[in-house]
Amino acid sequence: MSRTVYLNGEYLPEAEAKVSIFDRGFVMGDGVYEVTSVLDGKILEFPGHSARLQRSLNELEMKCPVTMPELLAIHHELVKVNNIDEGLVYLQITRGNPGDRDFAYPDDNVEPTIVLFTQAKPGLAADPKAKKGIKVISIPDLRWHRRDIKTVQLLYPSMAKMAAKKAGVDDAWFVEDGKVTEGSSNNAYIVKNGQIITRELSHDILHGITRASVLKMAAEAQMEVVERAFTIEEAQNADEAFYTSASSFVMPVVEIDGKALKDGKPGPIAARLREIYLEESKKTAV
Ligand code: PMP
Repeated sequence: MSRTVYLNGEYLPEAEAKVSIFDRGFVMGDGVYEVTSVLDGKILEFPGHSARLQRSLNELEMKCPVTMPELLAIHHELVKVNNIDEGLVYLQITRGNPGDRDFAYPDDNVEPTIVLFTQAKPGLAADPKAKKGIKVISIPDLRWHRRDIKTVQLLYPSMAKMAAKKAGVDDAWFVEDGKVTEGSSNNAYIVKNGQIITRELSHDILHGITRASVLKMAAEAQMEVVERAFTIEEAQNADEAFYTSASSFVMPVVEIDGKALKDGKPGPIAARLREIYLEESKKTAV
């Protein structure tokens, strides 16, 4: 069945939603995005995602074509018309179509392009991978140095996912100056002696919305959180490892670069954090 998508103020069948070849998202990768999860037909973490969207736009001096209440209403309409119970809403805003290709940003009168679409993912919360844990490889972090801005420039993360696929594993963790920055589309953590360790916020990583909530919930559950970078060797010798993202919540990592962590099974802290996160984020879903 054809999806209904949102493009620049209109709800359209997906085949009718068309964007110009001169759109800067297409020719320059000049755009930002957000992905939010839907559980029980409700949007998770909307305040966090909309605040980060606004921040990404501000950093790139890009206008937002809608207000945040309008944006939430668009999410709700798409979830409703596409009958999404569990899944994702993808949102992208680009600097629009200046009518030709030019490196310089266009004048203010060029309107941004805004696109939203849904992806149905039945069974998202009950993902069997969360019970088994996933395997990662490490690869050098060759991305640009403003990873805190959530841009649509996803070529290197795509290359990383392909390297993981070729290696027969699920994902890749990026390493820079000997330390893990983050996963190809998630924030990375280890657990050692009861401490939850994850890299501190900076321009080096995306400020994950799930990360912020999970760290808050961990602290509330009397777990100790330490924000510092760690090495792959440290991760391989940790008691547990996991990652977080809007679409995978909390995901246990059981093998890094071919080395199993402990007994190769998901650890209790990752499992508990996943449980708490799903429970709490459903309570605040809208
Ligand atoms: N880091 C990167 C590079 C990502 O692409 C993502 C997913 N958007 C994350 C971290 C996790 O962020 P969030 O929890 O907001 O999905």
